[in-house]
Amino acid sequence: MGFHDRILRRPKNRASILTNSLYTELLDETALHDYIKIEDYLMVAGGIRPCSFITIPAEFKDGVELGRRIDELCKADLQSVLMAIPSEKMILIQKLKNQLRQSFKRVVLTSNSYKAHLLWAKRLLLRTKETEVRPSIHELYFFQDSKLKKKLERLLEVRKTARKDTRTGTKETTIAYSEELSSEYLASLGKMLGYPHCCVKRYIEDRLSQDTNVEIRASRQIRDLRNTGEELDRFAYFVMNFFPCNPTCRAASELGKKTFDLLSIVNPRLSNLYSECTQNNADLVEKYPKLITQYREKLEQSTQKLGKIDDDRPKI
Ligand SMILES: [Zn+2]
Repeated sequence: MGFHDRILRRPKNRASILTNSLYTELLDETALHDYIKIEDYLMVAGGIRPCSFITIPAEFKDGVELGRRIDELCKADLQSVLMAIPSEKMILIQKLKNQLRQSFKRVVLTSNSYKAHLLWAKRLLLRTKETEVRPSIHELYFFQDSKLKKKLERLLEVRKTARKDTRTGTKETTIAYSEELSSEYLASLGKMLGYPHCCVKRYIEDRLSQDTNVEIRASRQIRDLRNTGEELDRFAYFVMNFFPCNPTCRAASELGKKTFDLLSIVNPRLSNLYSECTQNNADLVEKYPKLITQYREKLEQSTQKLGKIDDDRPKI
């Protein structure tokens, strides 16, 4: 039962009053980004999406500071890798990775941000599953349905296999996250995150294509629409990092509208906030090609220094 049903069907119920105050508390919570409260927590709690995830510590408010502290703790090991002679490099890289893992535990898992994110999942009756993406980067998944856990674990297995394929040279890739090249993984992930089928299909086609690029296509679609003088339907950008097959995709827009309508019944502050989130999401999609170029330049500088040890690609 979603938050909508809980509140609307039993308005005089004591639980619903408590639930209402829970949303006010959530709104006032300062440890979580607003878009995470709505898109990653409430949309899953309300049954609009089966699952969501955040990348930690990047999506914590103090993510930059936590990352800096991890770097600080790994400075000596990093220095050893940089100074190493080729025959010792592999062992020292392994040592650095272990140090990154230990530092992640020490810095991130004990942080107030981490505790607040887990506590809110619990309060909204969401289950969580955490997985390591890189030694100092984890993903934290949120879902309601206990049956989803198995599916999610299988999905993460698919990702591991896709990565191994890339590493052993089965597939050629130049992008940091090689699982982006597995259509099986992308289709399952898209479905699990509640993305419309048409949008997932288009995403996979673009991702696997040699001559187009999801980000450039999606950004151009927004500009083309603007040029026709039509107003952009921000609800089609119903969650961050989602690319509708088209800015006029009805399936995507309906999900955004549905969320907005439900939130406005629960608390108008929430729906106003969500409206801002969708605008930010659309703006981000428009800016993506530029951000990626900037990111690549930064990454190139750091990989030149480090070799491919760890990747701190933000969830942009
Ligand atoms: Zn679509």
